[in-house]
Amino acid sequence: MRYAVLIVGLVLAAAAVAFAQTPEPVPAPTPTPVATETPTPTASGEPLDQPSAPPDFAAIDWRRSQAKGSWARNGRLVRGVLLPELGEDFFTWDPIKNQIPNREWRRYGTDRLIRFVLSVIHAYRLEHDGAQRIGIMDLSRTHGGRFGPEFGGLGHASHQNGLDIDILYPRKDGTEQRPTKPSQVDRELSQALVDRFVEAGAVKVFVGPRLNLKGPKNVVVPLVHHDDHLHVRIR
Ligand SMILES: [Zn+2]
Repeated sequence: MRYAVLIVGLVLAAAAVAFAQTPEPVPAPTPTPVATETPTPTASGEPLDQPSAPPDFAAIDWRRSQAKGSWARNGRLVRGVLLPELGEDFFTWDPIKNQIPNREWRRYGTDRLIRFVLSVIHAYRLEHDGAQRIGIMDLSRTHGGRFGPEFGGLGHASHQNGLDIDILYPRKDGTEQRPTKPSQVDRELSQALVDRFVEAGAVKVFVGPRLNLKGPKNVVVPLVHHDDHLHVRIR
């Protein structure tokens, strides 16, 4: 009798194993969805549904930069990105020779700074249709470091690690050149530009004491020698 129970048990166990081994129906392979519409790439390679990418991004040789040290002390720039001399939204201005364009070795910044500034300028120009291009002066030197008077003019205390940039105020007459006195500055457009830099997260925007430009007191700071350009700094 004990054997009979054992045999029944073995038979049941074998049946269970056989049942477990019954192959499950294999689902038919899901066909890979075929895209019916491929987004048309723009010149920058960005799909058209990302209108925020400024057209000037396309002309830049992007690489991941590193800002070493601080803005004004022991600063260095590793793998800086070169700002082209001209773009759709900007021109560059040599602050020493007072002409377009600025020299190449004065136009290096971190990739973050260049992306930040070109994005702000592009959004500003979309809003102010027909506004002149924005003039950009010094960023940092090719590898950063000191940018004092030995490099011409008054020099910069900061601009050492690719996080500072000087930007000309838009002029009332709409010409693409440096304003030589505060009365030439278009205050309304300049304020719009300052507001956008603040909103985008600039840590400092130094502005001319004679221009009466407004902003949060810890960010928008009046400073001598800034009546022809504003100085934007990012973290
Ligand atoms: Zn500056």
